[in-house]
Amino acid sequence: MEKEVTSLVQLLDHTVTLLNTQAIIKNIKIRKEFQINDAEIECAEHQIKQVFVNLIKNAIEATPNGGKITVSITKRDGNAVVIVKDNGCGIPKGKLKRIGEPFFTTKDKGTGLGLMVSYQIIEDHGGKVHVDSEEGVGTTFTVHLPLVQ
Ligand code: ADP
Ligand code: MG
Repeated sequence: MEKEVTSLVQLLDHTVTLLNTQAIIKNIKIRKEFQINDAEIECAEHQIKQVFVNLIKNAIEATPNGGKITVSITKRDGNAVVIVKDNGCGIPKGKLKRIGEPFFTTKDKGTGLGLMVSYQIIEDHGGKVHVDSEEGVGTTFTVHLPLVQ
């Protein structure tokens, strides 16, 4: 895998812009809370972009019209920490552990592959993903990726 030093802040900015048209259709606001202006990671850029496209797309699909999504980035302990938070339908407790399993989907036309692929990509980059969710309240995905020292 070809990895290059990439600005994660810029990558996230582009990804939000890319998905904004999809959000606008549902009158959803994607709020960017970028608390830092640089965060360099070594990555296959198209792969990391794919991860955040997946997470933000899922958030848009889970969120009712007029809802709100927040994408934030901070640094902590040598990692970039990206949080994608929605106030959508949430994931029932019984299904939470199946999230990321291949072909696990609750959507009519879902593939259930987006998160599996995303988790794999983050692992390949030495990072990790954590999900918190409450049914009827919303979902938060937290991604840690090692910063270039
Ligand atoms: P797909 O989007 O094709 O269903 P994913 O792997 O992207 O596949 O997601 C798997 C499942 O995880 C979804 O069908 C949905 O049930 C759940 N999920 C993922 N993200 C969210 C979210 N932000 N809010 C609620 N449920 C989610
Ligand atoms: Mg998906």
